[in-house]
Amino acid sequence: MTNKSNYEYLLSDLTKLRGVGVKTTNLLKKKRINNIFDLLWKLPKSYTDRSRSIKIKDLKIGEVQTVTVIPKKYSFPRVRNLPNKVSCSDETGEIDCIFFNSYEGYIKKILPLSKIITVSGKIGVFRNKYQLTNPKYVSEDSSLIKQKHNTYSLTEGISEKIYNKIINQIIKNLPILNEWHSKKILDKFGNIKWNEAIIELHKPENIGKYKKNFYQRLAFDEIFSTFLVNSEIRKKIKKIKKKGKIIDKIKQDKILKKLKFTLTNDQLRTLEEINNDLSSTNKMFRLLQGDVGSGKTIVSLLAAYNSVNSGFQVAFMAPTEILARQHFNFAKKLFTSQINIELISGKSEYKTKKEILKKLDNNEINIIFGTHAIFQKKVHFKNLGLIIIDEQHKFGVNQRKRLSDKGGRNCDVLLMTATPIPRTLTMTLYGDMDLSIIREKPKSRKPIKTYSKLESKIDDVIKFIKKEIKSGNQIFWVCPLIEESKKLDHSSAVKKFEYLNKFFPNQVSLLHGKTDLEDKEVILDNFLKKKFQILVSTTIIEVGIDFPNANVIIIENANKFGLSQLHQLRGRVGRGDKDSTCILMFKSNLSENAKKRINILKESTDGFYISEEDMKIRGFGDVLGFKQSGIKNFKLADPIHNSDLFLLAEKEIRRIEIDKDNISKFKPLIKLYDRADIINDIA
Ligand code: ADP
Ligand code: MG
Repeated sequence: MTNKSNYEYLLSDLTKLRGVGVKTTNLLKKKRINNIFDLLWKLPKSYTDRSRSIKIKDLKIGEVQTVTVIPKKYSFPRVRNLPNKVSCSDETGEIDCIFFNSYEGYIKKILPLSKIITVSGKIGVFRNKYQLTNPKYVSEDSSLIKQKHNTYSLTEGISEKIYNKIINQIIKNLPILNEWHSKKILDKFGNIKWNEAIIELHKPENIGKYKKNFYQRLAFDEIFSTFLVNSEIRKKIKKIKKKGKIIDKIKQDKILKKLKFTLTNDQLRTLEEINNDLSSTNKMFRLLQGDVGSGKTIVSLLAAYNSVNSGFQVAFMAPTEILARQHFNFAKKLFTSQINIELISGKSEYKTKKEILKKLDNNEINIIFGTHAIFQKKVHFKNLGLIIIDEQHKFGVNQRKRLSDKGGRNCDVLLMTATPIPRTLTMTLYGDMDLSIIREKPKSRKPIKTYSKLESKIDDVIKFIKKEIKSGNQIFWVCPLIEESKKLDHSSAVKKFEYLNKFFPNQVSLLHGKTDLEDKEVILDNFLKKKFQILVSTTIIEVGIDFPNANVIIIENANKFGLSQLHQLRGRVGRGDKDSTCILMFKSNLSENAKKRINILKESTDGFYISEEDMKIRGFGDVLGFKQSGIKNFKLADPIHNSDLFLLAEKEIRRIEIDKDNISKFKPLIKLYDRADIINDIA
C-alpha cells in the first residue's frame, strides 16, 4: 500500500497501478503521460449518467440507459457472422444482450444464468425486441454501474472504462500532502487542501467550474511553482560573487558625445541599472526588454565598452549573421581603434577562425560578435566579463541558465528582447532574471501609417511605390512563409522579384534563406548605400536589422503572421525621421476576427499593448509561438482568465524573497509540478 503522506507515490511509474500493464503504459507515454501525477490532469470532458435504472417496459430506444435483469438463456450459434446472444428479462419484459467477437466463456462469466445483473448501454431494437449490442457496463454489483461515468478524450487503445478505473484508483490512493502555502494564500481559496481539490477536479459535476476554489487553488499551485523555481534560479545566480567592474564614466560620456542623437530617459535609466550590476560584486543576470526600435543596441554596446575598459572581454551574440555583422559594424564605427573588435562567422575561413580563436585565448580581442558559434566548445576566452545576447526571446530558462554557467564566475549576462509580452507572462518567462524595460521610443520617431490592401489591388501599391521612390525612399517587400515548418517559400519571393523587376528595372534585389552569405552582405550593404530601392525578401529581415532610409514595408499574405510578428516586421521601417508606411496585403476579404486583429495594429505601435490584445483574441499559446519555445505548458492555469492568480503568485514570491522564507516546505510542490533539478540545491 502507498504511504499516504508521500508525494513520491505520485511520481511513480504507471505500472504501479493495478490493472495497468506495459501495453497501457506505452500508450499513455505516447501522450506524454509518464507517471501517476501526469494522469491527474487527464480530466473528464463530460459524463454519462448511468445512475438511474428503469424497468424494461419503460426503456427508450436510442438512449443510454441502465437496467437490472436476469439472464435466462444463451444462444451461441457457432456460425460465422452470427452473433452470440443472451436473452434476459425482468418482471416487465425482455431484452437481448448481443455479442460480436466475444468468447462464450467470457459471456458466461459476465452474464451467469439466473443471477441478478445490472447492464447499461445504448438501447437498440431488433425484430421488435430490445437489445444491447456489445454491452461494456455489466456487473453483479449494481453500484459499479449505477454512477456518473466520466468520458475522456480517448487515447487510442484505452477505453473510457479503463480511464475511469485507473483514475478512480489514483484518487482513492491520493497522498495527504503537508500544506505548502501560507495561511493567507490558502484563505483566498476557501482553505481547500491540495488532495481535496484534486478530488473535486475529477468530479463530473465540476467540469468547467473554473471559478471554484478547487480549480483556482490548483491553477495557483501551478503558476506559483513555476515562479518559485524561476525566483530560486535568480537568487542562486545573484549569490555568485564576482570581481566588480570599474565603470569609467568619462570614457562613456565621450562615446555618448559621438552619437548623432541623445539617449532617451529610459535608455539612460536602463544603462544605469546595467552599470550598477556590472560594478556590483554579484553576478548580473538581466534582461533588457524594449520594443522594436527603442534603441537597445546602443545601451548594450555601452555596457560592453564599459566592461572592456575595466579589463574584460565581451561576447556579443546575435540570432543571425546579418545582425551580428550590423552590430559589429556599428561598434567599429563607435569605438576607438584601441578596442579590438572581431566578428566570427560560421562561414569564416578556417584560417581566419583559427586566428580569432587564438587571439581570444590570448586576450587580444576585446569584443567578439557572432551567432551561437561564439559559444562552441573550442572557443576559449582569457577573461570573459560579459555575455550579451540579442533577440533571444525563444531561449528557455534552462538554456539561459546554462549560458550563464558557461561564462564562468566573473561573467555578467545581459539578454535583450524586442518581444514585448503581456504583463502576466513576465514572471513566467523571465522570472529568473532582473528586468530593465525601455518603454519610451526616441522622440524623432514618426508613427507608421498602416493600411490593409487586397492582393487584387496590387496596381495601387505599385503606383504608391513609384511615388515613394521618386521622393528618394526605399521599400521592403516581405513574402511570407508558406509552411509553418519554417521552410521558407523561396519561389514566392523569386516570383515577386521578377514581377517587380518589370516595373522597376535595376531597382530591385532579392534576399532569402538560400542566398549566399557573401551575396547577402553585398545586397544589404548596397541597400544601405541606396544602390537599389526595393528589397524583396522572406522574413529573414525580421530581427533587428536597421535601415534608417527604408520607410515603406509591404507584407504579403499578412494573415499568415501573428500580430506581434507583424509588429516586429513593421518595426523595420520608421527608424529614420521620415513618415513611414506599412501595407498589409491579403488574398481575400478579412473575416470579422481578422479585421479586429488588424485594427489593433493600425491603432497602435506599442508592442506591449499589441501583444496584450493579441493574447486576448488568440490565447497565449499562439502568441509568438510560445508553445514551441519550450516554455512551460500550464495544465489548468490560463494567463488570460487567471491573470489575477499570476499577479497574486508574483506578490507571494516577492514576499517570500523579502521575508527570506525557508522554501524547503515547497519541495513536494516543486518536485511534482516542476521537476526542476534546482530543487537538489535548495531543499
Ligand atoms: P532595437 O531596440 O530594436 O534593437 P536599435 O538599437 O536597433 O533598436 O535602434 C534603432 C535605431 O534607432 C538605430 O538606428 C539607432 O541608432 C537609433 N537610436 C537609438 N537610440 C536613439 C535615440 N535616443 N534617438 C534617436 N535614434 C536612436
Ligand atoms: Mg535590436
